[in-house]
Amino acid sequence: MDRAFCPACGVVVEPVSMTVGDGVESEEVTRCPTCGFVFPGGEGAPVEAPLYARVAVADDMEHVRKAVARALLAQRLAGTVDEFADGGGFIAAVRRLSATGDAYQLAILDLHMPIIDGLKAALALRQLERQLGWSPTPILFFSAIVCDERLRGHLAALGPGFYLNKGVVAVERDLGERLRDVLAHLARRGG
Ligand SMILES: [Mg+2]
Ligand SMILES: [Zn+2]
Repeated sequence: MDRAFCPACGVVVEPVSMTVGDGVESEEVTRCPTCGFVFPGGEGAPVEAPLYARVAVADDMEHVRKAVARALLAQRLAGTVDEFADGGGFIAAVRRLSATGDAYQLAILDLHMPIIDGLKAALALRQLERQLGWSPTPILFFSAIVCDERLRGHLAALGPGFYLNKGVVAVERDLGERLRDVLAHLARRGG
């Protein structure tokens, strides 16, 4: 594969090819060298049921939250979307939901929010999940940067998760398409 646009990093990269598998079944995949995003081999089939039933989006920028919610609903990536302006609101909602036996199937957390940022919220979520005996909710981290070593370390520690570089100014149409591709990648990995 020649140079390709990585929807997670938001930049053009030189993909690397590798064989993954357990020796019995293996397949050739093409990845982003920076973040590990796997470029899809063929066109994905359109999904009938939403990819994630209930999704939480926490971002301190209202226009980003709204754009993400619209994109998730329009593309059937989410059945319902709850929006939060900070990590505190998100964690409070997780607690409220847990009291009724319900949960988010995906959390989209902005890394930069006042008071309780995305990493603090993710840590609190993982702690709560351990207390409740839940399996970890997949997290998509929104960043304003391309993945670096520090972010990669956080992703590994707080997985299952992935990240999307929303850039400084999120362009809605571009963001929606990249969300679709990155969430499909996260779902394929079992998130
Ligand atoms: Mg922010
Ligand atoms: Zn990438």
